[in-house]
Order: sequence, then structure tokens, then C-alpha cells
Amino acid sequence: MTHSQHQSFVNNRVLKLNVGFLLAEGVGYQRDIALDLPRVRLADDLTLDFLKGTLRLSRNSRGILVQGDLESHVSSECARCLQEIFVPVTLDVEELFTYPPSSDSAYSVDDTGILDLAPLLREEAFLAVPMTALCRPDCAGLCPECGKNLNEGTCDCERDTIDPRLAVLRLQLDDEEPVEQD
Ligand SMILES: [Zn+2]
Ligand SMILES: [Zn+2]
Repeated sequence: MTHSQHQSFVNNRVLKLNVGFLLAEGVGYQRDIALDLPRVRLADDLTLDFLKGTLRLSRNSRGILVQGDLESHVSSECARCLQEIFVPVTLDVEELFTYPPSSDSAYSVDDTGILDLAPLLREEAFLAVPMTALCRPDCAGLCPECGKNLNEGTCDCERDTIDPRLAVLRLQLDDEEPVEQD
């Protein structure tokens, strides 16, 4: 593989923040961290096209509080045609990472002072993407018979299966503006 073929893609190791310096500080100490990352893969089926924003890390008696709004485009699939799409989202983060690590808490800073943002961002990203995301508002979807993507043109089976009784209805419908259905 040459460099020119190598897509700008960062390993999700970049989301592992070393917060040892913060743990060494007293309660109440804060540090803002600016994130401006290119495409990063959070899971096999979840990619952030980019990740931008500022996180405030605050040392408190239970660990480190992570707060901030991050802008991203999250990979998903169109609910109608199943093509991969990227959905603009704001990830509204506010989570305590306990330290020392605790089994009662969903997120912890590990023993070596590493705070891994990836599991939290994965969770937030899944929640942020609507189930009904579409590649475009008028996506034609897939043919239920042959599976062809009808955005790329009609298929033969669609025309063949029209019931003559419905054809009249179809003619009437064709005269009207298509109605968007939810
Ligand atoms: Zn679509
Ligand atoms: Zn078809």
C-alpha cells in the first residue's frame, strides 16, 4: 500500500487520554482539551467522519468529570436504501470517570491514568443517530422484490407486478405531488 492510497483515518488510540497529570492535582483542578480529529473508527460498524470540540476535564473527589459538546458526523445507514451515510450530530458529553477504577461505575480511569473516551463516544453516537435517518429526504428505497436501489433507476420486476386494478390508482397518484410519509 502506498501513502497516497492511505485514507486519513486515525486509530482510536487517540481517544485514550493520559490524565495522570490531573489525578496528581487537587480537587477542583480543571483542564480544557481541544479535539480536532480526522476520521476515527469507534467500532466495526461505527465511524466518526471527524470529531471537533472542547472537553473540560475536572478533577473531583470521585475521579474526573468529562464535559463538553463535540461536533461530528456519525456513520449510519439509510433506513430505506441501506446505503452508508454520515449523519451530523452534536455529542453532548457529561460523564464521571471514576478513579480509582470502580466496578459500580460505567466509566473509569484505569490504574495507569488512561481515560478512554471511545466507549463513551460509542454510546453517545449510537444514541444521537435517529433510527429513521435517510440518505436524502426523497430516497426511493429498495425494490422489495429484487433489492435494487431504486435511486439508481427502476427495475423490471416493479413494472411487472403492478396489479391492473392498482394501475388506475397509480395513474391518479402520478398526477399528484408525492406525499412524504413518515
Ligand atoms: Zn437512501
Ligand atoms: Zn425489483
